[in-house]
Amino acid sequence: MKNTTVIVLLSILVAILLVTTTTFAVLYFTKDSNNDARVSSSDAEQECDAQMRTIVSAALIYTADTMYFPTSWNDLIPEYLNAKLYCPLDGTEYIIEWNNDAPPEISCPNHGAL
Ligand SMILES: [Zn+2]
Repeated sequence: MKNTTVIVLLSILVAILLVTTTTFAVLYFTKDSNNDARVSSSDAEQECDAQMRTIVSAALIYTADTMYFPTSWNDLIPEYLNAKLYCPLDGTEYIIEWNNDAPPEISCPNHGAL
């Protein structure tokens, strides 16, 4: 009786693991295949996060090179960033708090801060 219970519980556990793994695999492999479709809001959010990280990285490299914190887009473009970046969802400008003594703080009106 007890052994049966253990086996049933183990089977349920294995089933849950399989479903979880399959779900992640499906999500992972379908992620790149729908690039041609319109940008879904979750895709836009991921891209938005990536862009904000790009801006932060550019600011850090600028600081490493110059020993100053960037105080405007002009400090970063074109040497550290190709162009000003906007939220991919609808082209909204990022809210950036430039500081003389700290890295810039970036947030998106649509997606919030990093
Ligand atoms: Zn955004």
